[in-house]
Amino acid sequence: MECSRCNSKAIYSARYSGMNYCRKHFEENFEKRVKHEIREQVRFKQSRNRIAVALSGGKDSSVLLFMLQKILGERRNLELFAVTVDEGIAGYRDKEMISATKLCALLGIEHVTLSYREKYSITMDEIVSRDADAIPCSHCGPMRRQVMNQLALSVDADYIALGINLDDYSQSVMMNVIKGDTDRMARMAPHDQSGSGLVPRILPLRKIPEKEVMLFAMLNGIKEDRISCPYYARAERNEVREILSDLEERHPGTMYAVSKFGDSTKAALKLGISGQLTNCRICGNPTEYEICSVCKNLEQSNLI
Ligand code: SF4
Repeated sequence: MECSRCNSKAIYSARYSGMNYCRKHFEENFEKRVKHEIREQVRFKQSRNRIAVALSGGKDSSVLLFMLQKILGERRNLELFAVTVDEGIAGYRDKEMISATKLCALLGIEHVTLSYREKYSITMDEIVSRDADAIPCSHCGPMRRQVMNQLALSVDADYIALGINLDDYSQSVMMNVIKGDTDRMARMAPHDQSGSGLVPRILPLRKIPEKEVMLFAMLNGIKEDRISCPYYARAERNEVREILSDLEERHPGTMYAVSKFGDSTKAALKLGISGQLTNCRICGNPTEYEICSVCKNLEQSNLI
């Protein structure tokens, strides 16, 4: 199999576009798409710009940090920070934290962390052990968003960059469709603005399929080992993940189509929402409801 751009041996075939790529052209194309998303999603200021990169230590966020440093690292009016949330999941977070710290040291990027223990006085492991019926990710997702926001505010960031790839993004769109959650669909990142107290989130990898992120990571020696969260199997989105992967296999381009559908729906919905946020009456964090999702989940599990 030859590269569609030159005569070299291809290392990757993108079925959704019919293109084959050698290493050089695969990496060039990868970088071009990340640059395109950055141009689309970020409004750079003439003065100072600060981006907090949500670094879990996994392949997606590690590739994101690597790429942002490569693309934006030379800008004199831009600073990158890495922010890591420690959920308190033994055997997982501790190992990923080591990878995150190593990568930041290698790239020379300041790294700040905050744990659920510090913020909520409880860890994910404790939540799961105290409430056997809890769906771990339903607690963890909203908690992580709040902690991430706090970390981004602490470094005065204009944006939080998340390593969400095409698979993740299209799954989120589908989850919102299945739940009929138009509010959440309208509020999906990337954000061009956010409510007061919330740092806008950007998703520079959202048009890149997971397997391409994985290949890029392998080619660049960014992240070799794969460690999964022990609660991953209980995630609600696993069924959607399987359905979408199956559809993509049989109909290449499905994930792009779903992500495009999400963009157009979001744009249409945005015309009809006010975007007004209020403050949670328990913890005071910004939220669209009377009680934020973190407090609602903890209350339901009798943990507050
Ligand atoms: Fe949290 Fe779920 Fe992700 Fe584990 S898989 S880190 S519980 S969101």
